[in-house]
Amino acid sequence: MKTRPFLSNIELTNDGQLSLFFIGTGNAFTKTAFQTNLLLIKGKEHLLIDCGTLCSYAFENLYNGKITDIKNLLLTHPHADHIGGVEEMALAGKYITKQKINLIINDEFKKLLWNQSLRGGIQYSEEGKMTFDDYFVQMKPALIQKKPFEMYEINAFNMNLKLFRTKHVTTRKDSLKNSQISYGLIIDDRILFTADTQFNQPQLKFLLEKYRNIEVIFHDCDIKGFSRGVHAAYDELSTLPPEIRAKTYLCHYSEAVSTIDALVDGFAGLAKHWVYYDF
Ligand SMILES: [Zn+2]
Repeated sequence: MKTRPFLSNIELTNDGQLSLFFIGTGNAFTKTAFQTNLLLIKGKEHLLIDCGTLCSYAFENLYNGKITDIKNLLLTHPHADHIGGVEEMALAGKYITKQKINLIINDEFKKLLWNQSLRGGIQYSEEGKMTFDDYFVQMKPALIQKKPFEMYEINAFNMNLKLFRTKHVTTRKDSLKNSQISYGLIIDDRILFTADTQFNQPQLKFLLEKYRNIEVIFHDCDIKGFSRGVHAAYDELSTLPPEIRAKTYLCHYSEAVSTIDALVDGFAGLAKHWVYYDF
């Protein structure tokens, strides 16, 4: 993996390598690192991972992009810092580009996303009642594993994407029952992006043993541990074996990130925006 600085305009195509670009690396509250949404680019294809409330603002004002150029989307879970900009994308697709958004999503999340998040804002239109399928083209990943946690897979946009069910907000810490739907992502078997998750070392161990080509981990991190039990706390992540920490970049952090030194503590570092990660 190599890093390359962002120059002046966000690129939605490249020479064929897999590039990862963070629109932001912050948590739900920080206004300096925006929110943890990221863009994948490979050859002529792109995929936006999550579109939070600040995503289109950051995309257009920091990186000189146009959110209406984004055609392809994958969502990890229905918190507003991850889906708060999806209504805008849907409406821009209907009224500006006249093109539906390609959305990688399984049936379970599709139903929840529409009924519990989007429907209130965009079910009514001058044409009558709209449905999910009026705004989006569902690209359904296939279930490839049920236990110890569900996994889904899809080959799309030149990439192999595996989604794994995470424990993010659970009513009881050890249970996935009654928990909010949430997924992490493995990209081309090389990058593991946890998205929002509690600290879950057994899951990480399972995935690293099964997918041995994973080079880099981008891990959710709550620096002060205020949201321990919802996000992975820095002190919990610091207990990971050195070989795992050495390939782990931290993201979804608050301004308190200035109080730690991730490199000294054995991590690969902090995930940064304004930077392309090329694989
Ligand atoms: Zn979340």
